[in-house]
This record gives sequence, C-alpha cells and structure tokens, in this order.
Amino acid sequence: MSTDVITESERQIPVIAEVDVLVCGGGPAGTAAAVAAGRAGADVMLVERYGCLGGLATGGLVIVLPPLTRDGHQVIGGIGRETLETLIEAGEADYRSERGSSMFDPEGLKRLSDEMCLDAGVRLRLHSWVVGTFGEEGRPGGVIVESKAGRQAIRARTIVDATGDGDVAAMAGAGFERDDKMIGMPFRIGNVDLERWSEARSDGGAREVHEAARQAGGYESYLGLSPFPIEPGVAWGNNHMAPGDFLDPDVLSRMEVQGRRAAGRVLEVLREHMPGFEEAWLIDTAWQIGVRCTRRIECRHEMLFDDFTAERHYTDSVALGNDFRNPDLVYEIPLRSLIPRDLDNVAVAGRCVCADPEAMEALREIHCCWTMGEAAGAAAALAAERDCALHQVPVGELQRRLTDAGAAIELPPRPTSA
Ligand SMILES: Cc1cc2nc3c(=O)[nH]c(=O)nc-3n(C[C@H](O)[C@H](O)[C@H](O)COP(=O)(O)OP(=O)(O)OC[C@H]3O[C@@H](n4cnc5c(N)ncnc54)[C@H](O)[C@@H]3O)c2cc1C
Repeated sequence: MSTDVITESERQIPVIAEVDVLVCGGGPAGTAAAVAAGRAGADVMLVERYGCLGGLATGGLVIVLPPLTRDGHQVIGGIGRETLETLIEAGEADYRSERGSSMFDPEGLKRLSDEMCLDAGVRLRLHSWVVGTFGEEGRPGGVIVESKAGRQAIRARTIVDATGDGDVAAMAGAGFERDDKMIGMPFRIGNVDLERWSEARSDGGAREVHEAARQAGGYESYLGLSPFPIEPGVAWGNNHMAPGDFLDPDVLSRMEVQGRRAAGRVLEVLREHMPGFEEAWLIDTAWQIGVRCTRRIECRHEMLFDDFTAERHYTDSVALGNDFRNPDLVYEIPLRSLIPRDLDNVAVAGRCVCADPEAMEALREIHCCWTMGEAAGAAAALAAERDCALHQVPVGELQRRLTDAGAAIELPPRPTSA
C-alpha cells in the first residue's frame, strides 16, 4: 500500500438533523431497530448507503429463512414474525418445507421495509454513507455522512450501529475482532422447467451436473441451487466464493467481477447439461456482494456457542435466536452483548455483535438480525427517553416493552422429542 498521504483542510459541516435515535444501516437489523425505536415514540432517523432497505436480504438476494418456531413455540416474534407474516399474506413469501423454512421475494421486502419504517415515523436518509463520528470519547454526539449533497452531520442521543461491519462502533473507538467468513454472490435463474429439474434431482441424475457447475463457477466449497416458491420457473443460487479481507474495496471489487463471472459459467453448464435449464437465463446477480462477517465488536458480554448449546439463561435477555443448521437449538441474547464495552450511547445489532465465531455463525442470519435489531432499537429509544447510557436502561422495563410488542425473549420449553 502507498505511504503517500495528504492533509485535508479544516472545514465546517452543516448539521442536517438532531434525533433521539439514529440507526446506521438499513439491513434486517437496522430496519427492525428503526421500527422498534419509532414505535416506542422516539424521533428516529435511519441512514443507509444504498437506495433501498433490506441489506443483504434484498440487495444481497439472501431470501431464505429457517423456521421461526420450535415445537409450536415462537422463537422469532415481534417485528421479524410480523414481517414474514405480512409477506406471506401478500403472496410475497411462502413456506418451502414441513419444518417451516421459508423464502421471500426481495422486492416485497424492500417495499414492506419502507412502509414499516414510514408508519413508525422513521425519517429515511438513503444514499448516505456514514463515514465518521464526532463528539466525546466513548460518547459520540452523532455521525458524519457523505452523499451527493456533500459532507453533513447528524446529531443523536443514541446510535444503533447496524452497518453489518460495525463501522460506527469501530469509528467511535470500540474494540473488535475480525472474522471474515467466506463471501458469496447469490443469483436467480429464470425460465427453468422446475418439474423436469425436480425429476432429475430425485433420480440422482442432477448430482454430477451440479458438481460440474460448482467447479465451473470456481466456488470453494459450496454451490446451492433451490427452486424459488414465489415465482414460477425461478431457481435461486447461493455460494461460498472465497475468504479474504472484506473491508478492502480492492478485494471487494475483484469479488464482484469474479461473482458475476462465476454465475455466468454456472448457467452455461446448467443450460447444456441439466434437465429443465435448456432455455434458462440469468435474471440477476446480487448487487450487494454477500459479506457474511467482518468485525465482531467487543461488548460487555461475549456470546459463546457453548452457552447456546447449554441453553444458558440471562437475566438481561432481550431476544432469542436459533441456529439455521439446527433450528431446535434456541438461545437467549443478552442486552450486554449489544452494547460495546467502551461506548455509552451506541448499540450494535446484526452480524457485528459480540460473539465467538461459532456463535456468530448462528446469530448472523436474517431472523436473528431482526430480533437483535428490535431489542437494540427499543433499548436505544428507552435510553434516549431516560437520558441515560445504554448499559443503564432499566432492563425489566425494556423486557416488558419488548414482550408487549410481541417479541420472544425467554427460552421456550425443550422440544418434546428431545
Ligand atoms: C451469500 C450469503 C448467504 C446467506 N444465506 C442466508 C440464509 O440462507 N438465511 C439467512 O437468514 N441468512 C443468510 N445469510 C446471512 C444474512 O443475509 C446476513 O447476515 C444478514 O442480512 C445481516 O443483516 P444485517 O442487518 O446485520 O447486515 P446487512 O444485511 O449487511 O445490512 C447492513 C446495511 O448497512 C448498510 N451500510 C453498511 N455500511 C454502511 C455505512 N458506512 N453507512 C451507511 N450504511 C451502511 C448496508 O448497505 C446494508 O444495507 C447469508 C449471507 C450471505 C452473504
């Protein structure tokens, strides 16, 4: 890397807003946080670098959810459950297995996320990158954003960092660990004869072609292909491309090119050899590259996978999650794991919270980002209302508000079959 540097001249930045709760990042965690804080009566602004909400669940074409219940008991309640149920009612999501996993239409989620935020009174500031924080050490007074309108500041009493990468917490001085998991670029293929493809899969004839497609795409370990239940004739592809430093724009630039190239090569193999794909075409590749994990922010408590398997109970539990690899594994999420150790008025939510790598593997999924976001947003609203630090919010009151809003925060009974 070049050692050449320049010094920027000092300049004054206009303050464009002053809010109770500022949510940075509009993915599943940020959307849920903003809606929860808005519904709690806070004056909320949500800042998002791209032009729509949903994060990886829309722009990243990550459109699968594991079951939201265990043995009939709600695990993902509140805003997450409401989101899925609203999409199903609108015909924009559907269950795809008896065990209750589901897929949804990313366009439906984009529109629903807008409406839920606006109904909750959230001010949306799209097309704006958060590039810095300002104020006291340990207690940022707000953030600096860059957009076509230039460099501007937003003052906030409390901030929820839902950027996925923990950008705001890191910029404000929080400690973190890095764990850059395998990046991916999902895609959708249209005009597939799903019946013929299904027949080929059930008689085993598809396996070799699938493996040839994975190799042609150059995917390290995984290429998933599933029928998409919402739109006729559509298949969805998911993949593991490669590990790398996913906060480096040069690496991300290379991965963008590689991901699109890989999807094209997969299509070529499928068209030529997979029954049902002869007339298929590529609808789209994800325009938001699939960064699974980068920073894990150091908070007041680190969630450990061993605690998940032990079904550890926390007095400050504010959310539940389950593990997509084994949805019967349900765990509590304590408020302390959402509050950076070194910061008073910043909460983190989503795929940058405080957890060991194995726990993060379960936590980073969309449904858990919804529950963590809802908890962080409700906590941020309460902290702003009481004019206190996030670690000083009355936990009982926060838990009461969350459960009144339909969130599940206590472990359900163990499955009867266990
Ligand atoms: C390839 C792939 C497959 C996956 N498969 C599944 C699956 O099958 N099921 C499942 O549930 N989960 C899956 N996941 C995980 C899941 O999609 C994500 O972990 C989840 O979306 C994370 O939500 P989030 O809100 O924390 O972050 P994100 O979805 O990444 O949202 C962060 C938001 O913040 C914005 N942002 C970032 N930085 C800034 C900034 N500086 N200023 C302003 N805005 C900013 C981004 O634009 C984005 O909108 C998968 C992930 C990948 C990559």
